[in-house]
Amino acid sequence: MAAEFDDSDYPPEAYTADGVPWWRVETEPGKKRGLGAEQKITAYLRFCVGKGGTFTIRQLRQALGSETIPDDAEHLNRRMRELRTRDGWIINSQKDEAALDQDQYRIVKIGWYLGSGLARPKKDAPSDMIRRRMLERDNYTCVICGIPSGESYPDMPSKRARMTWGHRVPGKRLGRDTTLDDVQTECARCNETARDELFDPVTLPEVLPTIRNLPRREKALLLQWLRDGRRPTSLLDQAYANARRLSGQERAELLSRLTTMVEH
Ligand SMILES: [Zn+2]
Repeated sequence: MAAEFDDSDYPPEAYTADGVPWWRVETEPGKKRGLGAEQKITAYLRFCVGKGGTFTIRQLRQALGSETIPDDAEHLNRRMRELRTRDGWIINSQKDEAALDQDQYRIVKIGWYLGSGLARPKKDAPSDMIRRRMLERDNYTCVICGIPSGESYPDMPSKRARMTWGHRVPGKRLGRDTTLDDVQTECARCNETARDELFDPVTLPEVLPTIRNLPRREKALLLQWLRDGRRPTSLLDQAYANARRLSGQERAELLSRLTTMVEH
C-alpha cells in the first residue's frame, strides 16, 4: 500500500537518518520497542498536514493504514485525546470552529511529535490506586451523566456503562503526579464525547425538543448541571449504585429487607 503514496516530497527533517518518513517508522531508531499509533499520527500531522492544515480521520486512515487507524471511534478518540492532553496539540473540530465540516479537524497548535528529537511528555494517567479511590469516592457513578457502572444507557439499552477516569480540568497539563483531586469518574461515553466529540455528534435540533418539553423546574436543574459540568448524585443515586455492587446473595438479602421496610 505504501506505493500509493509519494513519500519523497517532504523537508529533510521529515525523514529518519535511514530516509524513512517518521510516520512510517515501525521502531524508533536505537530503541527496541515498536512505535504506537499516536506517535505515527503526530509525525504525520506535523510533516504532512502542518499548522493551520485540516485533515479527516479517513485521510489519516488512508495515509497510515487501517491497522494504525482502526475504524473504531472509541479507540480513535483515546488517541486524539492523548495528543491533546499529553502531547499538547490543539486540534479544532467543528464544535470549536463552525467553518469545519463535521468530520474535519484543523491543527491550531503543533505539540510534541515523533521526529522532533525530544522525549515524549510523560503520561498524565492516574495510578491504579488513585483510580480505585476515585471510583469509591464517586460511587462507581459517572459524575457527568449520573449513570452507575454496569447500567444500560436509557437511550441505548444494549450498551452498558463502563467507568473510566477524566480530568476535572480538561486539557490541562499538570506537570506533576496526578492526584485524587485531579480526576473524576466518567462513563466511557461521556469521557469520549464530552470533550472530543469526534464521532456522531448530536445536533441542537435533535436535542432541543426533549429539553423544551421538560417542566420548568427540570430545565433549571439541567441548566445548573450544564453550568457546573457535572450532575450531582443524590443519596438515592448513591444507594442504588452501591446496592448494584453487592454480591448476588447480599442483594437478595437487601431486597428482602427493603421489601419489609417499604411494605410494613
Ligand atoms: Zn456518563
